[in-house]
Amino acid sequence: SEDHHAGASEWHGAGGPLPVNPGRSRNPLIDAFLAAAQQAGHPVNPDFNGPEQDGVGYYELTQRGGLRCSTADAYLRPAVERPNLSVLTGVQCTRVLLDGERAVGVEVDRDGATQELRCEREVVLSAGAYNSPQLLMLSGIGVADELAALGITPKVNLPVGENLQDHPHLAVVHLTDTESLLTAETSENLRLLEAEGRGPLTSNVGEGGGFFRTTGGLDAPDVQIHAVPAMFHQEGLGAATDHAFHIGAVLLAPTSRGKVTLRSTLPSAKPRILHNYLSTAEDRATAIRALRLVLDIVGQPALRLHRRSDFLTPPSDSDADLLAYARRELQTLYHPTSTCAIGPVVDHELRVHGVAGLRVVDASVMPTVVRGNTNAPTIMIAERAADLIRGTVSADV
Ligand SMILES: Cc1cc2nc3c(=O)[nH]c(=O)nc-3n(C[C@H](O)[C@H](O)[C@H](O)COP(=O)(O)OP(=O)(O)OC[C@H]3O[C@@H](n4cnc5c(N)ncnc54)[C@H](O)[C@@H]3O)c2cc1C
Repeated sequence: SEDHHAGASEWHGAGGPLPVNPGRSRNPLIDAFLAAAQQAGHPVNPDFNGPEQDGVGYYELTQRGGLRCSTADAYLRPAVERPNLSVLTGVQCTRVLLDGERAVGVEVDRDGATQELRCEREVVLSAGAYNSPQLLMLSGIGVADELAALGITPKVNLPVGENLQDHPHLAVVHLTDTESLLTAETSENLRLLEAEGRGPLTSNVGEGGGFFRTTGGLDAPDVQIHAVPAMFHQEGLGAATDHAFHIGAVLLAPTSRGKVTLRSTLPSAKPRILHNYLSTAEDRATAIRALRLVLDIVGQPALRLHRRSDFLTPPSDSDADLLAYARRELQTLYHPTSTCAIGPVVDHELRVHGVAGLRVVDASVMPTVVRGNTNAPTIMIAERAADLIRGTVSADV
């Protein structure tokens, strides 16, 4: 997939559709975070996707010319003129059509009318970790008892929707007199973005961060930090009212498991999403260590310099206060996965067990959430699926 700015190497690809470039916004608050992390004893890592993941640094971004490069930009738009591709927008898929044990198409709601789209070979569901299980369950593929209780005739009994995972995110936010992204939206910065593809409006917000082992005996980091030069709170939905910086830690390998279930047989109804964050003693202990790690870094001289006052911080660093704070302030990092996992729901070629002609290709197939951001790994899954569907590789290779 990758088109890494430094070219091909043992750790990176070049020439792929997905550009990976250094960020073009460099807020001084992130420099201060990196300095503070070093004062706390953490090494600098120039490439988290290189030989070592541990350490702090700037994140590389899937950007082109200072703008996010999504899968629509990298893959879909270049292919959109192909005669064998039709893209229907504003259309909601409502279920998979089954003929016995074979998927033969999908039912969609198009401008208020129900329509059937038939396939010649197979159906590939890529509705994400919340909606792929919803669609399977609406089609009678799921936990049989639960489907029957809703009046859906169970066709294949599989633990669809179970095993929901995510990266829980715990942050502290300090007010600052240093200019944050709050005031980035100026006509000069807009000009810089449009004319030169640089400046603060190219910021990915989580400009810097790092990977950490918060206890001994781990074979990989258990915590990742995102350092944000802005008042980011309430999952990014809270109003930003002042200059501030946010240092947030995620649990990279949570052991809590949630579940996606149907609340209604109406496809237009949202599924019920229960994450069960911090439901294991292990996750609660990691959350406490993660917050302590963040407090240690924001307490170092390089960041103390930038702290005007507290905006969102725990009252003390006692275990009880940190856990209560974690329970109250935990946010999602928007990395849901694993609800149609390889193993219980799909096989190693992403085919749904017990149904011919039906694959799931999205973050829901990850057996466990990856130890890092989920976008590129999901693209990797899709690239692999494309090869499997075309028969150019087999899952055993
Ligand atoms: C706010 C936010 C910020 C994020 N930031 C990052 C980041 O910085 N880095 C990173 O690595 N990851 C990030 N992620 C996570 C990343 O976007 C996801 O892991 C990734 O997009 C998952 O891909 P997917 O194909 O599984 O699902 P999605 O990308 O969610 O794709 C599912 C698609 O299916 C469509 N769909 C769903 N149901 C139906 C239906 N019934 N009919 C028709 N269409 C349907 C949806 O509209 C959607 O377009 C972020 C996510 C969010 C929400």
